[in-house]
Amino acid sequence: MGPGGVRAGRRAPLRAGGGPRHPYAGAAVALATMHGKQRLIAPALQATAGLRVVVAAVDTDALGTFTGEVPRPGTARHTALAKARLGMRALDLPRGLASEGSFGPHPELVLIPAGIELLAFIDDELGIELVEQRSSERTNFAHIETRASDRRTLAFLERVGFPSHAVVVRVNGAHDGPLFKGVTDVSLLERAIRQCAAASGDGRARLETDMRAHLNPTRMGEIAALAAQLGERLARLCPACGAPGHGLLERQRGLPCCHCAQPTELVAHELHGCVRCGHSERRPRADGLRCADPGCCGHCNP
Ligand SMILES: [Zn+2]
Ligand SMILES: [Zn+2]
Repeated sequence: MGPGGVRAGRRAPLRAGGGPRHPYAGAAVALATMHGKQRLIAPALQATAGLRVVVAAVDTDALGTFTGEVPRPGTARHTALAKARLGMRALDLPRGLASEGSFGPHPELVLIPAGIELLAFIDDELGIELVEQRSSERTNFAHIETRASDRRTLAFLERVGFPSHAVVVRVNGAHDGPLFKGVTDVSLLERAIRQCAAASGDGRARLETDMRAHLNPTRMGEIAALAAQLGERLARLCPACGAPGHGLLERQRGLPCCHCAQPTELVAHELHGCVRCGHSERRPRADGLRCADPGCCGHCNP
């Protein structure tokens, strides 16, 4: 690495000199979706990088349906990239996109639910593969066990945004029996609770938020914001090779303690760079924090 932490590009520039045209102006990208996510994703990518989103109506459920388990970003990242490749193969395009969400307890604040949205982008012509991520406490992810649509249940429904947000009703404590997905109708909901409660060993139905994006406006908003984030990233070209997608590559831990200067688990630097040629630079934390509170230090506060 050279002075200032800047690493030289290993791959040849895309074009000499460069011009006002973005390399993706008018280029097609496959979006694997069955539920209209193009409405959320296409406008931002068109406006920022000039990409033309083409829908690949492939069965992404083949890669596993959403289950609402604890977030596993590694797995979700893999799934998002695999979905993007399904779309590319279906349309025979060198570029692909796919979104994936996971929901569960917040990774640091365990009692607070969090949503993590991923948006994968692949360009096999340039050799680019990147996954943008957005985590938010703005999620309605929740469940309740109930016998009837009593006051507690109605309060739950209001809190999760029913009926603009759909719910799932299933038999409590069992994986088989009646299952109602995408419920947004009050009379259907009452019937579903009765049937699932009657089929359950403890007389309860389990109500869950339906986290499929097309039934969950909160997720739709998060995906649209993530698409804008990806668009901004693709609009930034690498200063060394000209490839789109210059941005955050990695967060490096080890911020020194303000009291004893030992490294902590907090992020010390961000590595920004190019996913194509490896050009990168180390930047201090974007929030300006230069040392860690001794409360976060393993030496001062073991
Ligand atoms: Zn310390
Ligand atoms: Zn580059």
